Amino acid sequence: MSALSSFEAEARALDAADPLASFRERFYCQPGVIYLDGNSLGLLSHDAEAAVLATVAKWKTQVIDGYGGPPDDSWFYTGETLGAAFAPLVGAGPGEVVVTGTTVVNLHALLATFFRPDGRRRKLLATALDFPSDIHALQSQLRWNGLDPDADLVRVPSRDGRTIDAADVAAAMTDEVAVAVLPGVLYRSGQLLDIERVTRAGHERGVVVGWDCSHSVGAVPHRFSDWGVDFAVWCSYKYVNAGPGAVAALYVARRHHPRGPALAGWWGHDKATQFDMAHTFTPAAGAGAWQISSNAQLAAAPLRASLAMFHEAGLDRLREKSLRQTDFLMRLLDRLPEYQIGTPREAERRGGHVAVEHPAEAARIAKVLKATFRVVPDFRPPNVIRLAPVPLYTTFHEVWTAATYLERIVAERLYERVEPGRELVA
Ligand SMILES: *Cc1c(COP(=O)(O)O)cnc(C)c1O
Repeated sequence: MSALSSFEAEARALDAADPLASFRERFYCQPGVIYLDGNSLGLLSHDAEAAVLATVAKWKTQVIDGYGGPPDDSWFYTGETLGAAFAPLVGAGPGEVVVTGTTVVNLHALLATFFRPDGRRRKLLATALDFPSDIHALQSQLRWNGLDPDADLVRVPSRDGRTIDAADVAAAMTDEVAVAVLPGVLYRSGQLLDIERVTRAGHERGVVVGWDCSHSVGAVPHRFSDWGVDFAVWCSYKYVNAGPGAVAALYVARRHHPRGPALAGWWGHDKATQFDMAHTFTPAAGAGAWQISSNAQLAAAPLRASLAMFHEAGLDRLREKSLRQTDFLMRLLDRLPEYQIGTPREAERRGGHVAVEHPAEAARIAKVLKATFRVVPDFRPPNVIRLAPVPLYTTFHEVWTAATYLERIVAERLYERVEPGRELVA
């Protein structure tokens, strides 16, 4: 007898009352598969597929003329057009967002601009729970500047191994810190940081505050301009569903535009004169100046379609459904004492996924979920199974079903049937 049986009717009722339910039909949901890994790589939508095919057709027939035509349909303006489409999702003003490159490369480009070690103020600030790539980037920036990647990178410690306390971040912002780069949502626990409060604390202490919002954009609404964020980067293949390696985005606050990019390339040039081909670099007026190379059009096309879908659904409505789904999931997990929840319970402190912890067997449980029950989670060592119900395509009934499998796997010790350890790509 399942401890969760009585919740099935609730799942059905929530699905029946869901105003966003029809979006699911626009995604390639594989029959029999419950996909809960949209926090790593979102599903393909029919809209995105059509956009890729349209770009291929345009390449086939128009070739170089793909760079001509009206700005909103021209490869010449892809970064600016898609940046404007992204802006409402992050609360940016005109010209503050551009779509270009990839997340970590964009982070390097922005650090090159904003990290100017000056006397005592020469440290970078991050957290002990950061996504590793961001740490690699920060340490290499320190090395590149002739500084010490260990001593000059301050990592705010975690008190519980899951979350970062905003007060601890503020306390670490000493007069030795030049730039802080912080995660909007922590990739493992799913904690959402108070971006406004932490940014303000940084500014009070003379610290430039940048954010990596790869795990929050598309899941949580942001208001970068109102919050005073200095710069931000994020990817578009997680909650934004633009496909593997899709073109990423960056934000530079208007007040910083006059600085111009430290690392320049022709795609950051003022559009009006870019094709004069002069050797003098005249930066574009906005965040567009931080573009270096021409955009990967085949990797930008699905993003265009995806962003249109976000505007149709409304990010606030998506967030509301996401909170309801993760809340439902956590209430189910509360009935399964073998598991702990590593994600903060308060709505304003969590992003789009739930970190399900099992002390010893999380890796094998994740394997069984996928291999036996065709539920796609991901595993983050040492003990976390991440489950992301994505409000555009996940149903409440799928959430309920996945939880019943988690229950069975421990009740019947099904994980004992698989090899220990994680896959190469977890
Ligand atoms: C997903 C993610 C990235 C990915 O960077 P790429 O340049 O797209 O490989 C970087 N940082 C964080 C915090 C992420 O979650």
